[in-house]
Amino acid sequence: MEISTQYSSERDEMVLRQIENRGLSNSRLLNALRWLPRHEFVKQGDEKYAYKDEPLSIGFGQTISQPYITALMTSLAALEGNENVLEVGTGSGYQAALLGLLARKVISIERIPELADRAQKVISRLGIPNVKVITGDGTTGWPENAPYDAILVTAGAPSVPQALLDQLSDGGRMIIPVGSRSVQNLQVWQRNGNRFNEENILPVVFVPLLGKYGWQIRTD
Ligand code: SAH
Repeated sequence: MEISTQYSSERDEMVLRQIENRGLSNSRLLNALRWLPRHEFVKQGDEKYAYKDEPLSIGFGQTISQPYITALMTSLAALEGNENVLEVGTGSGYQAALLGLLARKVISIERIPELADRAQKVISRLGIPNVKVITGDGTTGWPENAPYDAILVTAGAPSVPQALLDQLSDGGRMIIPVGSRSVQNLQVWQRNGNRFNEENILPVVFVPLLGKYGWQIRTD
C-alpha cells in the first residue's frame, strides 16, 4: 500500500476535529496535514496512536508534539511557499517534514544523533527533498544558510537566543516557547529592521531546549 493512503481516514478526522475545529483554516496547511503520514514518525508499535490529540514519547526522553501545536506553530509562520526556514529540535522529523511541504528550503537541527538520523531517513523515504537534518546545538542557529524567513524552535527556551534573532530576515518571524523548564509561553517574534515585535500566543509545555543559549545540560 502506498505510504500516504494508510490511516488516511484517521488523518482526515484529526484535521477536522483537532485542527479545523480549533480555528485553523489555511488550505495549504490542512492539505499538507491530510497527506503527511504522521504514523511514520512515531515509535514502532505506536502507529495506532499517531493521530490522537496528544504528544507521544519518541525515545531518548523526547516527544513528538500534539498535532494541534505543530499545526499552530506552522500557521504562525505564515508560509506561502518560497521561504527559507530553520527548525531547532527535529525530534521525530514530523514538523520538519510539514515545513518542507510548505516552504522552499528547510534546515532542521537536532542534538541527539540517533533522532536526527531516524528523522532524515523517514523524510527522505517520503520523498521530501528540500529538508536537511543536521546534528548539533541549534541554540546557535545555522549561520551558513541564514537569513531565515521563519525560525521554529520546538523545545522550551529559558530566553530568546540572540543568535537566532540575528539570523532572521527582515520581516521574518520566529515562533518559540519561552519560560521555565515545566511551562512556557508560545511567542512570535517578528523582525522589522533591527526592531522586534513580540506577541504571546498561549501557554504550552515543551521538553527543554538544551545547549549554549538554552538550559544547561544536566550532568547529575
Ligand atoms: N519538532 C519535533 C518535536 C520536538 S521535541 C517533532 O515534530 O517531533 C524537541 C527536540 O528538541 C528533542 O528531540 C530534543 O532532543 C531537541 N533539542 C533540545 N535542545 C536542542 C538544541 N539545543 N539543539 C537541537 N535540538 C535540541
